[in-house]
Amino acid sequence: MTRILLLVIAAVITPCIAAAAPCSGDPETHGTERVIKVDSKSTPRVGRKQFPSTLPLGAKELVLTFDDGPWPRTTPKVLDALKSECVHATFFLLGRNAAAYPQLARRILADGHTAGHHSYSHPLLSRMSASKAEAEVDRGITADELALYGGRRATPATPFSRFPGFAANGFLLDRMSERGFVVFGADVWASDWVHMGPEQELRLILSRVEKLGRGIVLFHDTKIQTAQMMPAFLRELKRRGFRVVHVVPKRSTNP
Ligand SMILES: [Zn+2]
Repeated sequence: MTRILLLVIAAVITPCIAAAAPCSGDPETHGTERVIKVDSKSTPRVGRKQFPSTLPLGAKELVLTFDDGPWPRTTPKVLDALKSECVHATFFLLGRNAAAYPQLARRILADGHTAGHHSYSHPLLSRMSASKAEAEVDRGITADELALYGGRRATPATPFSRFPGFAANGFLLDRMSERGFVVFGADVWASDWVHMGPEQELRLILSRVEKLGRGIVLFHDTKIQTAQMMPAFLRELKRRGFRVVHVVPKRSTNP
């Protein structure tokens, strides 16, 4: 009898413990998101704004991505918002920013997010010679890896890449595939490179997400209006029944 009583008490208490630490534990079993693992063989190029296909997402499933950081005025606010809602995103780091703010780059990893690559200094790579473009990609990766893991290497732990301004060409895309990268475009974006307030951006991105129903969402964690609207955006996603999916590499060489 005592044993049954203890079991009943345990059953009542356990969910309370889980609720007290909602971000801990295995993310694959987390109630508000799931994890998908991808590689360049299964999904070489994703995002229908640029490519014919995207990530295998169900209805009302979104992958959140942030470009151009880390940036000290804004990235911490974005990270705080993601943490408070227990969701994970993908950050495409700019090498020069990772080199300038390595602690912030490491916080992105420590918070459980995916860190991909977005060149060193954001040139439009399709307008450069092939060798210069690839050197720029490599310089970005080296700077990111040094900031993230403290080692210099051109083969990154997470082979995810996004071209600055989506400016790729056939040669560069083929080259990234040969090197085993998943190249990310986007399915929907917040247009946060346009000057607007956080409320306006919130209305715009929610209307676009509702219209599309699923996909890869592009933000810039360097933009103050994006950082400011992120808590309300995440709360509203949850209220409307959207789920945030975390995308990770199938095989990471994470040290
Ligand atoms: Zn960018």
